[in-house]
Amino acid sequence: MVKLFKKGILLFTNDLRAFDNKVLDQAIKSCESLLVLSIVDEQQFVLNSFDVRRMGHIRRRFYYQTLQDLQIELAGVHLNLNVLIGNPIQLLSKIIPEYDIEALFISRAIDPSARELLRGLERTIQLAQNAEMRGTLAHLKIFECMNYSLFDQSQFDFELKDLPDNVYDFIQYVEAIAVKPPFYNHFKSVPTNAFLGPEYEQYRLRLDFEPAKEISLFSSSDRQLHHSFIGGSTFGLQQLQFYLQEKFQERQFFGARILGFDSSDLLMTPWLANGSISLRTLWYALLEYEDSHGQSGLITRLLQSLLRYEHCQWIALKYGAGLYELKRDTDAHTRTFYAERFVAWRNGCTPYPLVNACMNQLNETGFLTNIAKRVLASCLVDQFQVSWKYGAAYFQMQFVDYDPGTTWGGWLELARVLPTYKRSSVDFDSIARLHDPDGSYIRRWRGEETVMPVDNHDMVGWPLG
Ligand SMILES: Cc1cc2nc3c(=O)[nH]c(=O)nc-3n(C[C@H](O)[C@H](O)[C@H](O)COP(=O)(O)OP(=O)(O)OC[C@H]3O[C@@H](n4cnc5c(N)ncnc54)[C@H](O)[C@@H]3O)c2cc1C
Repeated sequence: MVKLFKKGILLFTNDLRAFDNKVLDQAIKSCESLLVLSIVDEQQFVLNSFDVRRMGHIRRRFYYQTLQDLQIELAGVHLNLNVLIGNPIQLLSKIIPEYDIEALFISRAIDPSARELLRGLERTIQLAQNAEMRGTLAHLKIFECMNYSLFDQSQFDFELKDLPDNVYDFIQYVEAIAVKPPFYNHFKSVPTNAFLGPEYEQYRLRLDFEPAKEISLFSSSDRQLHHSFIGGSTFGLQQLQFYLQEKFQERQFFGARILGFDSSDLLMTPWLANGSISLRTLWYALLEYEDSHGQSGLITRLLQSLLRYEHCQWIALKYGAGLYELKRDTDAHTRTFYAERFVAWRNGCTPYPLVNACMNQLNETGFLTNIAKRVLASCLVDQFQVSWKYGAAYFQMQFVDYDPGTTWGGWLELARVLPTYKRSSVDFDSIARLHDPDGSYIRRWRGEETVMPVDNHDMVGWPLG
């Protein structure tokens, strides 16, 4: 087969899987030699202006496990994944001219800050002093494609700017469109691997996670007790099988949802968030389940939830960085900040046992169900009058399933920023009565132990009596 390019780079970003990955397929088909890369941006581990990091230690661990799993999977088809850590724009603009790279293959990023990567590369090309470097970079072909969502833009008969903000309008529209089946990657005529020289050793990230040890924990029957999320498609698919084969049977009889892990219908968001499982894989797994077990309310509800998730992705694409600055946050409390309240909230030391329990669960495991997320968000915005942007930054650091579109979507709803959302603050007592009737969730996560009044100090820092 004639290939279009002698040398290309396949850059893995938020599509950390070898299955249903269009970009991987395109790169394999188009290049004679391929440098397979993933660059961990070191800036995400540095404290930012919200006094948090973009990635905390639980998600970092999950991320590294995912990279290692992908490395093993790709090695099985003779592709060598190089994982580097540093500044992605600087590293790419050094590697591309040095290795005469002709094409870059990358998934379209949903996260506005990740989209900066391509813009940063373009700026570097324009500013390049060295003529040879400018020449190679200027001729670089970039192949970017949507690799994450259920639908392609080409399936919509409207432009992105006209995408409905209202999730129900969106769902009504897409229900008439078929989701394309997952894409099976064929590893025929795999390109030769291009290797990085010794000068890149200083950037190489050594992944030393021990899968065998963790798998035994993961597959034990009490995995829910350990709350152990293991990154990578291999483990994500195991989790999916577990839900389809065991959990779904219980779910059919499930009444009011409680707050702990057990109340998740599917618990796949950690793997969806970094693309180690695609939304389409999940969608088709649910359809297959329905084919063999018959229609059920649970599956219908989950398919609807996935459409909701899909909508969040498109909203993030539509607004881009503007999502963070939607002009409708006119309520004073969406712009205010009280340092002491924010600290009490993030440490789980509020007057509300339920809030403390949710925060303790989050800080220890990196995961919360939707109800628990709403409890925390509502406490910060409605009770503590702290701007939702601080809460969103904290969630970004802590969530093992952090997803830019969905998290901001959730916050915008809770802080009533988008015009379509009505006021709906959360009543902790009725939530506790309904979802934790015997108090076991609050006990499990020690919600009573750190109950504290808010505002212990006055405006000049003097303790209040
Ligand atoms: C303030 C706030 C922040 C949030 N941040 C995130 C985030 O960073 N990452 C994230 O994945 N979700 C986020 N959500 C959405 C939602 O809370 C999670 O998708 C849900 O908690 C996943 O838990 P589960 O696996 O128990 O879902 P299940 O009830 O088992 O649902 C199954 C699937 O449906 C989808 N889904 C469920 N609820 C929602 C929802 N409200 N919006 C969109 N999709 C949904 C998910 O894909 C999930 O895997 C946020 C919600 C709020 C209110």
